[in-house]
Amino acid sequence: MIDSHCHLNRDEFAADRQAVLDAAAAAGVHGFLNVGYDPATSRASVAMAEADPRILATVGVHPHDAGLMADAAGQPRLQAAAILAELKELARSPRVVAVGEIGLDFFRDLSPRPAQRTALALQLSLADELDLPVVFHVRDAWDETLALVDELGVPRRRGVLHAFAGDARALGWARERGFLLGIGGPVTYKNSTLPERVVEAGLDMLLLETDAPWLPPVPHRGSRNEPAFAALTCARVAELLGLEPAAVDEATSANFRALFRTDGDFGA
Ligand SMILES: [Zn+2]
Repeated sequence: MIDSHCHLNRDEFAADRQAVLDAAAAAGVHGFLNVGYDPATSRASVAMAEADPRILATVGVHPHDAGLMADAAGQPRLQAAAILAELKELARSPRVVAVGEIGLDFFRDLSPRPAQRTALALQLSLADELDLPVVFHVRDAWDETLALVDELGVPRRRGVLHAFAGDARALGWARERGFLLGIGGPVTYKNSTLPERVVEAGLDMLLLETDAPWLPPVPHRGSRNEPAFAALTCARVAELLGLEPAAVDEATSANFRALFRTDGDFGA
């Protein structure tokens, strides 16, 4: 299996990162996409990916940190150009396979909404300039995000809707435009509507992810999430689709390789 979205650079893993990777391998998880969310974590992701063949990286600025790139009126800040230049420089590494995580988060609203829209627009352009797919973070802003992406132009290399929590309409949007859905711990939660979406989507649209250290699957809720737990998500998806876990592993790994254009060795 491949964990298509984790944050192994976080302090939560500082003491036992190697043991966490070993535990993942023991659970059958052999590849990791470490996702940046601001300039510092983008740098850290690239450094980790360059040091470990099992890890790939993304670079980007999360909607929470969009205020770094634009003001409350949505005007780009002077430093936005420097941030974009740094992300571009980092993306010269062949270990960088996407721009992200980028998007809109109207649940926490940690940056002003106009700033979030500007940061998203600037980074959608960056993705096309770098010829990379995108990793979207969307929370309580599905209609706004999908409309804005349509208005600005769907990124040429497409991407994944990480931690997918959209409705059937959002799923239809993703299908029509060739986007994948990142499925993690929430698919194991009671009262989640995600199982219905997984069944509607079918294997061809799915990637496994953890978002570690966040969003642990059952029975690990309340504790640190880690890439090994992607196996629990894989088992749940298999159960929902009436398949063996190995079939879900194979299909989602193939989806990952096709989207991020990685070679056969990665995650094997
Ligand atoms: Zn994340």
